[in-house]
Amino acid sequence: MPFIVAIDGPAGTGKGTITKLVAQDLGLLNVDTGALYRCVTLEVINRKLNLENKKEIIELMDEINIQIKNNNGEQTIYLNEKDVTYNIRKKEVNDLVSEISNISEVRQKITKLERGFGKKQDIIMEGRDISTHVFPNADIKIYLDATPEERAKRRLLQNQEKGIDIPYEEILHSINKRDENDKNRKEGPLKLAEDAILIDTTNMTIDEVKKEVEKIINNKYNKKIKNQEIKKTSIKKDAYKQTKVKLIIRKIIKILIYLFYCIIYRVKVLNKQNIPKTGAYIICANHVKLADPPALVVTAKRHINMIAKEELFHNPFLAWLGYIFDVIPVKRGVQDIEAMKRSLQVLKNDELLALYPEGTRNGLKKNNGKVKNGAAFIAARTGVPVIPVGIKGSFKPFTKVIINYGEPLDFSRYQSKQPEKENLEKISKEIMDNIIRLTNE
Ligand code: C5P
Repeated sequence: MPFIVAIDGPAGTGKGTITKLVAQDLGLLNVDTGALYRCVTLEVINRKLNLENKKEIIELMDEINIQIKNNNGEQTIYLNEKDVTYNIRKKEVNDLVSEISNISEVRQKITKLERGFGKKQDIIMEGRDISTHVFPNADIKIYLDATPEERAKRRLLQNQEKGIDIPYEEILHSINKRDENDKNRKEGPLKLAEDAILIDTTNMTIDEVKKEVEKIINNKYNKKIKNQEIKKTSIKKDAYKQTKVKLIIRKIIKILIYLFYCIIYRVKVLNKQNIPKTGAYIICANHVKLADPPALVVTAKRHINMIAKEELFHNPFLAWLGYIFDVIPVKRGVQDIEAMKRSLQVLKNDELLALYPEGTRNGLKKNNGKVKNGAAFIAARTGVPVIPVGIKGSFKPFTKVIINYGEPLDFSRYQSKQPEKENLEKISKEIMDNIIRLTNE
């Protein structure tokens, strides 16, 4: 089950800013639900629809496509493929949005969309009815509040920074009107959930609120993980034990998948000799498709301990395969101590450990050239060399896939118990530069 943080509160309490910062710090997907209602409102304005004509507005809900792209907590909002991040903040939208969000059918559609976000990954979602209606079982519910005057003052400053010129009185009036509308509507009204934590931000700085919110999340998150670990300990204990049966099954599956990959994907491995026959090495490849991790594992002569996102283990068959191949599940977005311990143990045992610095498929592109420093951290912590691998191919049947191994890279000059971020970034860059070179060879 993904971890869900619900943040509610009226306009101008700093929800948006706080949510963005916390999402960046804790690696959660940031969803600003006000933006969803704003998109619908913008489309109503663009199409010059009459507010009295609810039918047209409801029909419009089936014709629009809203997407939120998240880049390190920063959101870009697309309405029918067009970037509307800026336009949805305009005054015309402000004035109309709470009326649009009062329409029951609009709310139902948006609620469905919102729930979809929480199915796949850990999220922090901000809005008005997230903890009461959208996710009544959220792991954490926080209600941010502040006096209307303080909120109007903040909005005024925010607007001035953006060059938007709206007088204080007008902002205060608009905030009061929106509060009134949002609190008194029949469906999904803004209210404090019984089990929500209320934070009055009137006399707090953004940094103080952020710290408070992160403290609440971290406490709860650690408790949840601990509980899960207690439940899972019986599986964990012998998850990496090499029984005879397990080794035989692994061998058989490895041969079958190997044949499948050779015939269907025409996999070709170049420079295999760059994996030494013995000793600990970290293998880092680019991640193109779901099909590339098995390709790496079954074509290598030595056993590879792969690190993979924990979500895959929710599927019982993949969990079983993971057990057979000693895959190490890692929780994304948090410091997964268990996964780190296991990875260090693999290297201590002089084995191969493989992971994807990109963090996700095509992560380099998705995250504007930024990669995760996990591989770099393990390399700096242990001084174990990294073997870069370039994987090229579309993994479409009967097309060629090339796995190209580079020479081991030595980062022992950066070895430290607590490696500095600057060094980790240097290591990550060198690894990725080599991977890119190998994919182009
Ligand atoms: O948070 P923001 O000010 O962008 O929200 C704009 C409007 O969208 C709110 O005033 C409210 O009317 C509506 N909204 C809502 N339910 C949410 C989020 C926003 O009704 N969950």
